[in-house]
Amino acid sequence: MAWSNANDRLLKERARRVIPNGMYGHESTARLPEVYPQFFRRSEGAYLWDTDNNKYIDFMCAFGPNLFGYRHKEIERAAAAQRERGDSMTGPSEIMVDLAETLVDLVTHAQWCIFGKNGTDATTLAATIARAHTKRRKILVATGSYHGAAPWCTPSPNGVTAEDKANLIGHDYNNVESLVAAARVASHDLAAILVTPFRHEVFREQFLADARYAVTAREICDVSGALLIVDDVRAGFRIARDCSWATLGVQPDLSCWGKCLANGYPLSAVLGNDLTRDAAGCVFTTGSFWFQAVPMAAAIRTLQLIRDTNYLENLVSAGTLLREGLDKQATRYGFELSQTGPVQMPQILFADDPDFRLGYAWASECLQRGVYFHPYHNMFLSTAHTEAVITEALCISEEAFAALRQRRAHLASPAQLAGLPLPPRTRSSNRAA
Ligand code: PMP
Repeated sequence: MAWSNANDRLLKERARRVIPNGMYGHESTARLPEVYPQFFRRSEGAYLWDTDNNKYIDFMCAFGPNLFGYRHKEIERAAAAQRERGDSMTGPSEIMVDLAETLVDLVTHAQWCIFGKNGTDATTLAATIARAHTKRRKILVATGSYHGAAPWCTPSPNGVTAEDKANLIGHDYNNVESLVAAARVASHDLAAILVTPFRHEVFREQFLADARYAVTAREICDVSGALLIVDDVRAGFRIARDCSWATLGVQPDLSCWGKCLANGYPLSAVLGNDLTRDAAGCVFTTGSFWFQAVPMAAAIRTLQLIRDTNYLENLVSAGTLLREGLDKQATRYGFELSQTGPVQMPQILFADDPDFRLGYAWASECLQRGVYFHPYHNMFLSTAHTEAVITEALCISEEAFAALRQRRAHLASPAQLAGLPLPPRTRSSNRAA
């Protein structure tokens, strides 16, 4: 069946009347090529169907939550069994204790957990606990890093007061001198350093954390009594079966989790060590839906799969197959890609494409043939991205490169990016893939 998007266009029009701008947040397709569907009807394994019944191999995995394939049978069975017993109740289910024990066993630095719903719940709570523990205010963050959508961390200035952000001090990610200088500015008021495990900003090449940066962050905290917080909301369990910075030999005091923790069911967590237990116990935190038992049942099964299967090794081999395949195709058709970040969380940009015209056109060609790549946000693999699925995606991407070569001379700058301050992209920014 030929690709069409009549239903999606109609839905976008209806949505614009009853939802501000038709959609909000990074799930809005406003900055994506026009052909990208805003709404979906169904998902299964590595596949998504939009409201026009177009089927896509989905490389976004719901922006991360889908780690074992959409609607994974065993996880769904665990969730369904719990749904029969109860979900939101007057207090938590007994399985909350099982889940906390499972996480404490799995994550090296963790000796306790508090659960929430979204990643922003986790980062906000971790910052609060750090302030309660230290009785200080300042938190060091890398300029441009995303930690959620609450007023203290949202990237948008709209509706936010200077006071909301007054206690954040920026520094350049991976730049030890900049980190040390920021700590000096915070001085005796330093409560925490909050970092993502690697750099995963939109519209840019990704890069990994240097061990020296991670170790320095740990040392600053040890010397000053501040807390080290790793925000593993996006990367958690796609880098390690542990906190992502465990791979660098650095253990945080607090870590933040969300997204894939329950394979798509709403659940997030803050994990902490014994040093922070009293502070975690003294802050007031809760939410009406924070104790839902169904997501917790899904999380227990998800964590068993994380612990007991080769899921991570499989993600890496699927990601490697994709990266190497795309590189070869690009070269064959006269293009150069800039593929960065861990292969299981790939960022796929075109080299020498400052206004993203090549990337946008290629992604559109892929989309209309049945592969959902994102032209400016990092992507995510799941275990449903088997070798067969990657091979299927590569057949489509090859056709897209051929079509792009034909159109190359006639491409225009994407209108939806007009006015957006795009970061300068040079080859030297393409560090440490
Ligand atoms: N931290 C990081 C690193 C994230 O990537 C995100 C979400 N993209 C968040 C925090 C916030 O998570 P949520 O959208 O679930 O609130």
